[in-house]
Amino acid sequence: MSNTTYQEIKHSLVAVYREDPRPWLVGFSGGKDSTMLASLVFDAVLSVAVEQRTKPISVLCTDTRVEIPAIAEMIEGTLDRMRKCSQEHNLNIEASLLKPPPEQSFWVNIIGRGYPPPNRTFRWCTQRMKIDPVTVFVRQRIGHWGEAILLLGARRAESASRAQTMAGRVTRNGLRRHEDLPRVWISNPMEFLTTEEVWAYLLQKPNPWGNDNRTLYKLYSNASNGECPLVVDQSTPSCGNSRFGCWTCTVVERDKASEGLLAAGDDRMEKLIEFRETLLHYRDPANGKRNMRRVNGDKGPGPLDITARRELLVQLLALQEETSLPLITPEELLLIQQLWKAARDPDDGRGVARIINKQRGVIMNTNLKELNRLREMEEDVAREKNINADTLRRMLAKVEEYSESHRAHGLPDDLLNILKDDLEAQPAGKKH
Ligand code: SF4
Repeated sequence: MSNTTYQEIKHSLVAVYREDPRPWLVGFSGGKDSTMLASLVFDAVLSVAVEQRTKPISVLCTDTRVEIPAIAEMIEGTLDRMRKCSQEHNLNIEASLLKPPPEQSFWVNIIGRGYPPPNRTFRWCTQRMKIDPVTVFVRQRIGHWGEAILLLGARRAESASRAQTMAGRVTRNGLRRHEDLPRVWISNPMEFLTTEEVWAYLLQKPNPWGNDNRTLYKLYSNASNGECPLVVDQSTPSCGNSRFGCWTCTVVERDKASEGLLAAGDDRMEKLIEFRETLLHYRDPANGKRNMRRVNGDKGPGPLDITARRELLVQLLALQEETSLPLITPEELLLIQQLWKAARDPDDGRGVARIINKQRGVIMNTNLKELNRLREMEEDVAREKNINADTLRRMLAKVEEYSESHRAHGLPDDLLNILKDDLEAQPAGKKH
């Protein structure tokens, strides 16, 4: 890439940084385009005098809870380095990994509610696992900020359809309104870059936070190219193509990313790929795993029947044992139990516990009763403190996140922000 193009993008970012007071959100998926975008943003802020680095910037990344392990590990490491770089240079950039709540996780929807594994016509997952967590986060931030600019790494050269969609968009000063969040404006600073220019930029030097992009390059060559961008609304090009996405993805014919990683020596992928085949088998109505009435009562393939859901749970727990990967959490298991109890043909409320007991030693010493008690306690404390139980859970999760990364810097601010969100979410009369 000519240095001019890169410098031009960086200069225009610096100009907007200085002249436009709106905070920035930066979509980050760990793929090449968004890595370049984040790198340009860091570079732009680093070129501003320290006392002027006041614009709040949030790098946003989603984790569906069923991400390909190698990609999830790489992203966690990258976000951590971004945070450290921001602290070290006072960049005022936070990096957030957004997950769907356990109630909307892949396993709770499939094993708990009986949703069939997604396909092109019933792709229930993207909204619940990718778009909603971003929308919730952005709405909370917008509550404090008023308006924000969302920077995305989308490029016309990625595909003919992408070029056509981007060319047809109405923009004002290079910004277009977000479809669902009217106070958010989307900017695509890299719109006209070619793929070669992106790699040339990435490979010429390490990112400002210290990552060497050769690892990313290798991951791409192993994973057959393509990436799953941060999906922000239904108009954003989505995943479910050749890309890094969920290892459970049944929207694609073949999961080339997983296969590529296996071929490159990531043995964990072998069992995961097999399990994905199992999901495909369970989705096909011809295999007798689905109710033959839809949820609305019409004739036709409906949800997975309760026996199929039990079978899948048994197999998933066995997979967890075999791979030693944390595939399902105790909280998700508790939710599955609650959903089974409330299903059309309910169980006695002990189905999940029985399966876990049979596979004793398989998963973390899960005591569902204990977990249930914990949730009730959280609700009591939240009532007593006059805050929302979800707010309390978010605060606890935040503390846990910090303790896992052995750092405390930034925790009070994050907790304060969560409390502010809670305050803003309350009806006017209830504010305290
Ligand atoms: S990668 Fe596949 S399973 Fe995951 S959110 Fe996208 S379409 Fe759904």
